[in-house]
Amino acid sequence: MSGKAFLVDTTKCSGCRACQVSCKQWNNLPGEKTTFFGGPEYTNPAELSAITFNHVKFFPVDRSNPEKPVWTIMHKKCYHCEEANCMRVCPQHAISRVEGWVVIDQSLCIGCGACVNECVYNVPHILDEDVKRYGAEGIIKKDKSYKCHACMENPREVPLCARHCPTGALTYGERAALVKRGLARVKEISAEYPHANLYGLEEFGGLRTLTVLKDRPEKYGLPVGEKAKAIDLAKAEAIRDTYAFLSIFTFGLPSLKRVAYRISKSMVG
Ligand code: SF4
Ligand code: SF4
Ligand code: SF4
Repeated sequence: MSGKAFLVDTTKCSGCRACQVSCKQWNNLPGEKTTFFGGPEYTNPAELSAITFNHVKFFPVDRSNPEKPVWTIMHKKCYHCEEANCMRVCPQHAISRVEGWVVIDQSLCIGCGACVNECVYNVPHILDEDVKRYGAEGIIKKDKSYKCHACMENPREVPLCARHCPTGALTYGERAALVKRGLARVKEISAEYPHANLYGLEEFGGLRTLTVLKDRPEKYGLPVGEKAKAIDLAKAEAIRDTYAFLSIFTFGLPSLKRVAYRISKSMVG
């Protein structure tokens, strides 16, 4: 796979959330109501949402050595899969590849939630009410799916989240170079972290958000093996066809479209 990518190095993340704030600012995304310990440890907001395209995920701290507690923190956003389930199932073909990145065109999106259902990383979200843009004119429309677009909607040389990371935990560049750098980093830390690995080489045909992990992917809730394989193309087409028929009975209502998608999936099996 050629082109650009991100490299997340969990060993360098300080949890400062500069990436989170930068994305909000660059995309005029409003804040959302959260509680201080909304997710595990200091994760806040607890998950990605239709108005939070990246977040900093804290995992339970290993305090087995009270002298040296081990923190595990990971920047999370869309992985921009090469074989992307969201793209395969979208009945509107609203999701396409732009310079290698997986991007949703909200003007085509009907809010059916197929992408939300099929993304095993829980990345895209449907907005359930119109939201005013922060620091700009206009609204973000409800009943549309949103996620990280790799700054393709407002391009710049280096996407803002990566540009503002102060520790080098999130970097951007040619994927081939980042793979080399990620593998070298894994080697460097393997004495301290024997299960260290570079996640994203094979999963879903290869990811554009690669991650240096200190431990096995499962510890981070990341799928591997069969669980990290894209939905079969013929099956995706069958689901889309069934959905096209059932959507006649949804009267244009996104909530019914979401039910219709789930029924289509269960009918195809
Ligand atoms: S991580 Fe999810 S939303 Fe992103 S490209 Fe892959 S399937 Fe699509
Ligand atoms: S909600 Fe439906 S129409 Fe919109 S991007 Fe997702 S799959 Fe496509
Ligand atoms: S690449 Fe752009 S849109 Fe995606 S998380 Fe970073 S700042 Fe946000």
